[in-house]
Amino acid sequence: MSDDTTSGPVWGDESGAVLAAVVWASSRVIRQGDPKGGARTADELAAAAGETVTPGGLGPTAAMRIFDEVIVPATRAQDDPMNLAYIPAAPTRAAVAFDLATSAANIFAGVWEAGAGAIFAENEALAWIVSLLGWPDDAGGCFVSGGTTGNLSALMAAREAATAHRGGRPAGGWTLACSAEAHSSVQSAARVLDVDLLLVPVDERGHLTGAALREALAGAPDVSAVVASAGTTNAGIVDDLDDLATVCEEHGVWLHVDGAYGGAGLAAASVRDRFIGVERADSFIVDPHKWLFAPYDCCALLYRDPDRARAAHTQMAGYLDQLDRQAWNPTDLAIHLSRRARGLPFWFSLATHGTDRYAEAVERTIRTARTVAEAIDAAPHLELIAEPELSIVLFRRPGWSDDDYTAWSEQAAHDGVMLCVPTKFQGETALRLAFINPETNARAVIDVLETLR
Ligand SMILES: *Cc1c(COP(=O)(O)O)cnc(C)c1O
Repeated sequence: MSDDTTSGPVWGDESGAVLAAVVWASSRVIRQGDPKGGARTADELAAAAGETVTPGGLGPTAAMRIFDEVIVPATRAQDDPMNLAYIPAAPTRAAVAFDLATSAANIFAGVWEAGAGAIFAENEALAWIVSLLGWPDDAGGCFVSGGTTGNLSALMAAREAATAHRGGRPAGGWTLACSAEAHSSVQSAARVLDVDLLLVPVDERGHLTGAALREALAGAPDVSAVVASAGTTNAGIVDDLDDLATVCEEHGVWLHVDGAYGGAGLAAASVRDRFIGVERADSFIVDPHKWLFAPYDCCALLYRDPDRARAAHTQMAGYLDQLDRQAWNPTDLAIHLSRRARGLPFWFSLATHGTDRYAEAVERTIRTARTVAEAIDAAPHLELIAEPELSIVLFRRPGWSDDDYTAWSEQAAHDGVMLCVPTKFQGETALRLAFINPETNARAVIDVLETLR
């Protein structure tokens, strides 16, 4: 063994790098993003950044300069109050700052014995969601990276439960039932799980109804789960959960409710009725990185009966034999092993602000959506497609072609006034505004919509 492998710190003094990162982060948390930021080509970025990964290293000052001047400006400000495209983000400053603390603590939060304190705190935050669902106290789950992993993990647990109940896989394999409005990640989950997809028709307003599901299940004996949307991503529509739960009970089928975006509405008294029936679901997801004011990436995955998740997800290996499997191990509840305590920023913000403020913040965005929808309804040059059920507003500019919509949307983005991207609803092009940021000002949005004349 040569001497230089044992002498001197490998990384040298990293305090400059630590300070550069912490100072940058604290100023970003305070000032928010620049709405005019956006993608550039990889070639442009390479030219602007120069060589970044070199044998000798650039040192923290040069690396940070590239990050601040080249890299971050080539990203979209998800938290800008006028970013109303796709599903934006609006994390509290407390939550974003605590992401830094979570990283610094570097907790292994896969198993209780390594991450007990962090998992306890995550479970406190999950218990709030369980209470909003009206589920029993012994329900629970864990945080995963996003709705895609959450849906896949829940649907895998459902499939394993169905297989155990039936005593084997049906000859033709399992089927997953959902509407065509279900999120694309459900189709992806079906492919991963190698289950067929049964697309159940929606009613004229875009809802999956109990009657349609009953008819579909009558001809499909091998359904391992039904996926209901509690807030479709495109239109913010909540399926008829109560009727769907009744049909699922009749057939002994697992009901999974995808509330990745809309699940936050559970906290808002003004729309809570739309979720009636969710108390009878078997699994549920909501992304706090969408409408519950947490930074990326954070999905709360919950099971009414966590034992059924353990049966599907517990990983076995010689070096894991010593683990206490009676303890609350997030590893046993989803498709993951190592994990950061990604629920901690959400927990810290919730603990700091309290659940009343969360409820009020969600209500405020719903009010903003309604105010904008009313203004659209009243505007002679615009056509509201439907009253928003949650906080997504779909509307049209009669007389406009697809190219007109695209040109207007690109101009508004280019000018940094608003991000609003066209979508398709029931086969026709429409404009879509997704409100999840309580700082969004309805008046400011309405003023921009004047440019649609
Ligand atoms: C966003 C979304 C997903 C996927 O969540 P990710 O966190 O992006 O993986 C799933 N379902 C619905 C309804 C969504 O809105």
